[in-house]
Amino acid sequence: MSYIPYGRQTIDEDDIQAVVEVLQSDYLTTGPKVEEFEAAICQYTGAKYGVAVSSGTAALHSAMFALGIGPGDEVIVPPITFSATANCVLYQGGTPVFADIDPDTLLIDPVEVKNKITPQTKAIIAVDYAGQPCDYDQLREICDKHGLKLVADACHSLGAQYKGRKAGTLADLTVFSFHPVKHITTGEGGMVVTDDPETVDKIRMFRNHGITRDPALFKHPPIPSSSHTPPSWYYEMLELGYNYRITDIQCALGISQLKKLPQWIKKRQEIAKFYDDSFEGISSIEPLTVRDNIIHAYHLYVIKLQTKNRDTVFNELRNAGIGVNVHYIPVHLHPFYRKHLGTGYGLCPGAESVYKNILTLPVFQALLKNQQDLVIKTLKNIV
Ligand SMILES: *Cc1c(COP(=O)(O)O)cnc(C)c1O
Repeated sequence: MSYIPYGRQTIDEDDIQAVVEVLQSDYLTTGPKVEEFEAAICQYTGAKYGVAVSSGTAALHSAMFALGIGPGDEVIVPPITFSATANCVLYQGGTPVFADIDPDTLLIDPVEVKNKITPQTKAIIAVDYAGQPCDYDQLREICDKHGLKLVADACHSLGAQYKGRKAGTLADLTVFSFHPVKHITTGEGGMVVTDDPETVDKIRMFRNHGITRDPALFKHPPIPSSSHTPPSWYYEMLELGYNYRITDIQCALGISQLKKLPQWIKKRQEIAKFYDDSFEGISSIEPLTVRDNIIHAYHLYVIKLQTKNRDTVFNELRNAGIGVNVHYIPVHLHPFYRKHLGTGYGLCPGAESVYKNILTLPVFQALLKNQQDLVIKTLKNIV
């Protein structure tokens, strides 16, 4: 491999075999593999229930639906994230409100969150940026005090821990993504996990057009004025849902991938440690702060460039075949948000300032030692 990407999937022979078995079975979609994958993620994270959907974005949207977010409701989100974190609020007609990040960690700052709470605030979406969990004790306290729901966008932090508790158990609802750059992949895919059975029922319906086949939930008899038990073909659409279903093909891949997650996270942590050690004493390269009491899942390894211009370094590394990246353009600076929400510069000064200096270096389980050596040597030469 001459070009080194910032992240990529690992597909082994057993993954391929798992997918082939589904292709030869009766169910390509919504068969036994969906529930099996949901149970496996629950077992791994310690969450009670999981609902697998077609993407992390669909999972975020489902979470907003389950919380009943609608027009007039505000949901507090960080600006340094993938735009889907804020877009999901808009899908439901709600308003995302941006609370600034801590420039040391790029995690949402609980003090900024408090400042953004209004009588319209319904929920907070915390993003475990790069794979480091947010300060969930503080966020929980704020939520309890103001009657808000806490959602974790844990698309970066599958396998991470906060004070001995795993991502998936730290918020009311937690969202994962299984896009190929994330820790494990299903091609496209996502999941909501929660301990609340009602939330699960709502999302199961939402991912399938808002349809239920559970007679206990039916609003009307199947034929006017009939009182007998509904025939087995009968179903009702109770809500405006979507087709957010995930396939058995994808879930078989996910189940197979998940078995390897613990060793992959260890590998990511080793790569991060080697970066940390290599950059020690170099004042122009500042890795993000990692807090005590957490286990970092290292979806991303992000540095802040203190002296050299970020874009110069970016271009030189790219020219050397190293796939560095920038995570992320602050969401509130995107033209859509400026136009529709009137956001722009000055709204989140911490995010706007740190955004100029951040650079994501390659980290993925299959990154070779000599590739990482090349990244470090090239970067050191440039700065
Ligand atoms: C990847 C990601 C998403 C969206 O997940 P998809 O599966 O690509 O839809 C949402 N939020 C964050 C923070 C992400 O990294």
